[in-house]
Amino acid sequence: MFEIKNVSKKYNGEFALNNISFTMGKGLNFIVGASGSGKTTLLKILSGMEQDFDGEAYYCGKSIKELTSNEKSYYYNNMFGFVWQDFNLLEDVSVLDNVLLPQYLKNKQNRKKAETILIDLNIVDLAQQKVKYLSGGQKQRVAIARELMKNPQVIIADEPTSALDEKTSKTTMDILKAISKTRTVIVVTHDTNLIDNNSNVLNLDKGELIASPQEKIVTKTENLTFNESHRLSIKNAFALTKLNVKSKFGRFFVSTLALMVAGILCLTTISGAIGGSSQGEFDKLIDTYGEGLKDISVVGSFISAGGTSGNKEEKPKADVTQDIAGLYDKYAGDKRIDFTAFLQAFENIKVKVSGKEYTVKSTGGTPSINKLVAGKMPSGKDYEVVVPESFVETLGISNEQAIGKEVNFSSSMYNWNTGKPVLKDAFLTATIVGVADTTVYYESQGKMTSYKVSDSFFFNKAALDDMRKQAEIKSSNMNFLIRAKTPADMISIKDELNETGIVPLGRFELVEDIVRLNKQTTEQSGSASVLIGMLSVVMVIAIFLITGLMRKREFAIYKISGFHNAHLSLLNLTEMITGAITAILLMLVTSPLINLATQGLFKASILNSKMLLTGALLIALIAVVAYFTTMITFMKTNATTALKTGDR
Ligand code: ADP
Ligand code: MG
Repeated sequence: MFEIKNVSKKYNGEFALNNISFTMGKGLNFIVGASGSGKTTLLKILSGMEQDFDGEAYYCGKSIKELTSNEKSYYYNNMFGFVWQDFNLLEDVSVLDNVLLPQYLKNKQNRKKAETILIDLNIVDLAQQKVKYLSGGQKQRVAIARELMKNPQVIIADEPTSALDEKTSKTTMDILKAISKTRTVIVVTHDTNLIDNNSNVLNLDKGELIASPQEKIVTKTENLTFNESHRLSIKNAFALTKLNVKSKFGRFFVSTLALMVAGILCLTTISGAIGGSSQGEFDKLIDTYGEGLKDISVVGSFISAGGTSGNKEEKPKADVTQDIAGLYDKYAGDKRIDFTAFLQAFENIKVKVSGKEYTVKSTGGTPSINKLVAGKMPSGKDYEVVVPESFVETLGISNEQAIGKEVNFSSSMYNWNTGKPVLKDAFLTATIVGVADTTVYYESQGKMTSYKVSDSFFFNKAALDDMRKQAEIKSSNMNFLIRAKTPADMISIKDELNETGIVPLGRFELVEDIVRLNKQTTEQSGSASVLIGMLSVVMVIAIFLITGLMRKREFAIYKISGFHNAHLSLLNLTEMITGAITAILLMLVTSPLINLATQGLFKASILNSKMLLTGALLIALIAVVAYFTTMITFMKTNATTALKTGDR
């Protein structure tokens, strides 16, 4: 039962209620009065929706003013039922699901009870209908059915009949009258025709009580309980999510699409793929010129102009000599390189493998390598060699089989000590550690041609030192090449060598233009892509903020059904998980299509597992942002302001 003592409420300095006192218990209670007399304000105070007022208000001895939000939501789910002028139902949801809404906070939904109530109210035939197709009278009965599912001690109805015609008004009042036999029913109404003589009537005028139940015996209601297990289970949260997705599929689809699109835009942003638009140009060049395009040759002497045979050991004619000793060690461990290799030319090569001797046709040039096709480049202390693919072919074995085999390598090397080339013999035993594709690509009369160098043998430093010692070569200037990892690395190493006064050889002009262009576009599109990524997140925030605001009424209906913010947070979570997973699946399924777009727009390919995984993570991350955006909207939802009450 309610006890109200000296309650006053002011809005903007004006009394909406002025020093009201009364008691109210089981049975049918009417609150009447002209529009603006304070009826709705009084209901808000009785139900705990308005806790900021002067005076005291108790329900079963419990101060309504001091109810916590947890207690309130428990009462709204179990003790207080609300019936409104405009029904406050979920319009796109079926009658039965509307009626079951408060039951999502129970372990098990009592469908049987729902059906009994629908039968009692004569709307069981409408159970599967969506509420939006019902008439006003039918809607009001659905609303009453939903509140009866709570098995409430109190039903508070604010102008429940003012949107209804005379006949349905009477039906509704009859239902409320029947309910009031066992419960406290408080009805605010204009229509004094609905009031019978047996009811208690509170008459308000400009916030003052001008008539109240004259010392009537107030029947006590049951005692108050509060059950701590007032919670939303994860199972029920997902069930409610399913209901929401089904009833508002368009809304769900738009927000899911927003998550996916934002995920992909952020993906192209962070992958830096937008800036890599000239990557394709490099790939084309590499296709034409081979991997050797990224080579930097560091040689002790060469002809600076006019000669094409800078690679050849033509020392006397060389007009550039430079000290390259020590540079090999400096670059061998550099992060920008794939590998380094010594460029030592050999004549009269004879190689013995498994007791059989092979003569290798000499080209007289320095060795060259397009790429390793098996094994690794030579290194370490033991004598190691990388042999050309063509040599392995003559052995009649596979590249893999060649690895680990021992070779007896004998050859002649040019010794320039006297200023004239003198061939000196050298011999050693080394292990094959790799096989190289030795194709050389070059341009001739505007056309690309290629040939394979059959005598490209690469030794490690220990082995070469031994052979050069045998050939009595004194100079410690050993020519070598650096294979840069990327064209940008190639240019940076070249610039570095130039700074120390070394002139390296390589196809720098071809690469340099593209590197410079690439740098420029990366800088330009870099900021553009960050902007696109940021805008896409802003878009998601905007969409979820608008969606959340549009759902204010829905959130308010949850709240008056007994959901509090923790329950709504869980529901928000299950909705976001569902949305994010759907967005990720959607991305995966449509990735070939999306790839066409990202390649066309940003020259970025997303069709690899790393990009797709990153995309999935980004969608999840953006869903977290969306989660907090939605959270703001339901935290800020005040049930009384979001739901219209009283007169229209
Ligand atoms: P009734 O339901 O009897 O029509 P209300 O309780 O809604 O009356 O309102 C009583 C008075 O308080 C009215 O003058 C109304 O303008 C004012 N009022 C009600 N709610 C608010 C509010 N949230 N802010 C400012 N004034 C309000
Ligand atoms: Mg009102």
